[in-house]
Amino acid sequence: MRDAEKKYLVLGAARSGMAAIRLLCRLGRPSLMVDDKPASSFPNESRELVALKVPFYSGEKIPDSLWNDIQLVITSPGVPLKHALISIALERKIPVIGEMEFASRFARAPIAAITGTNGKTTTVRLAVEILCEGGIPSIPTGNVGLPLSQAILEDAVNHEKGCLVTEVSTFQLETIRDFHPRTAVLLNITPDHLDRHETMEAYRDLKYRITENQRSDDILIVNEDDSLCFDLCKKSRAQCLTFSIEKKVKRGAFLESGILYLNLGDAVPLLKSDEIPIPGMHNIQNILAAALVGASFGVKPEIMAKAVRAFKGVEHRLEFVSGINGVRFYNDSKATNLDSMEKALLSFSAPIVLITGGRDKGNNYQSLNSLIGARVKFLVSMGESAPLIMKSWGRICPSASADSMRDAVQRAFDAASSGDVILFSPGCSSFDAFQNYEHRGRAYKEEVGNFLSGRNAPHD
Ligand code: ADP
Repeated sequence: MRDAEKKYLVLGAARSGMAAIRLLCRLGRPSLMVDDKPASSFPNESRELVALKVPFYSGEKIPDSLWNDIQLVITSPGVPLKHALISIALERKIPVIGEMEFASRFARAPIAAITGTNGKTTTVRLAVEILCEGGIPSIPTGNVGLPLSQAILEDAVNHEKGCLVTEVSTFQLETIRDFHPRTAVLLNITPDHLDRHETMEAYRDLKYRITENQRSDDILIVNEDDSLCFDLCKKSRAQCLTFSIEKKVKRGAFLESGILYLNLGDAVPLLKSDEIPIPGMHNIQNILAAALVGASFGVKPEIMAKAVRAFKGVEHRLEFVSGINGVRFYNDSKATNLDSMEKALLSFSAPIVLITGGRDKGNNYQSLNSLIGARVKFLVSMGESAPLIMKSWGRICPSASADSMRDAVQRAFDAASSGDVILFSPGCSSFDAFQNYEHRGRAYKEEVGNFLSGRNAPHD
């Protein structure tokens, strides 16, 4: 069989794998799908594969004879590189790439790629708002929006004027080859996913790959306050813009005396930090980064400021839910680790009634003892980790355990007074009682809604 006639093997029948299959079918390329789980685990996808006439194989093995007919393996970000099929492919010298790499080869619009340990989704959303406000059609892609393959398949942005803003994780950077963003952003690098990447150096080097294929006419945007990020400027071929909340930068964006500035020659004020509708210094970093993405596509500062002022935030990330009698409820269900919870606690000056807990991930609760003592007026713990949490923080501030979300909301409200914030920031995963953090966040918002409507009080 000639190479061009050989098949594409897609590994992983979830969102991005299915999008890759659809794109392959559109391109008229023969493909097959493999997943560890049986077809009965995903009835909708199975039906679609049948309709598309794409063969499906389940399990860690496919018939030996098939390997001779395969030219490329396309993996989904959830599939570990140690997967048995990937090892076989590599032994047979069959190239293995990720779905994002594969899709990017067919992208006609430029790509703005955003990576970092934290803040990717928020920055992608902000960048899209800024670009759209500036007349550059753009959509979020990757983990946060449509898989890149799907966005390309649907021709979702105008490729002459538009931009694909893509959230990129290290899992995707592991499997790039030619991925070439016109604008790349590196927000921060802190320890995460070390179960998969093993060392901090390996994790950092994967993040650095975001700029690997950039050229001198591309833009790289990095956090100057994070030395691991800033070091990348020396290694990249792209033009570097930096952002900082601590100091003026030579070329980029910065915060000084409560004003955000853009400096691409002469520093121009963008907006005041008290005009920003989303809380926290970490979000100022995200805004500075997103503004530079806008600047790299020629958006004017006053247009960026307008988009930022109108930004509603992202669901489950310090999301304002509702208020009553001067008490404000926030949903931060995406805070699945203590680092995120710490950012949330630092985001409010008002006294905080904290609802926390879920499935423990080996958290060192004591590391936040002093912050909890300083900021938390009352603690409500719930979920599997409640006993562990009470052991550390129950001694530091007044507290109670709740046996359900409803109970937690009630107990938190009983402890709050006018001017307080009720913050649901679990610091743990959701899998003890929910399908995922979105499901958990919706449950919290529903209970807040039930609670408020039960009281029939006006919202403020
Ligand atoms: P990601 O997509 O990288 O997971 P999100 O935008 O979804 O990031 O934010 C997840 C959590 O990470 C937020 O709830 C917040 O606590 C924290 N976070 C957001 N932006 C930053 C940042 N720039 N630096 C550090 N932490 C951040």
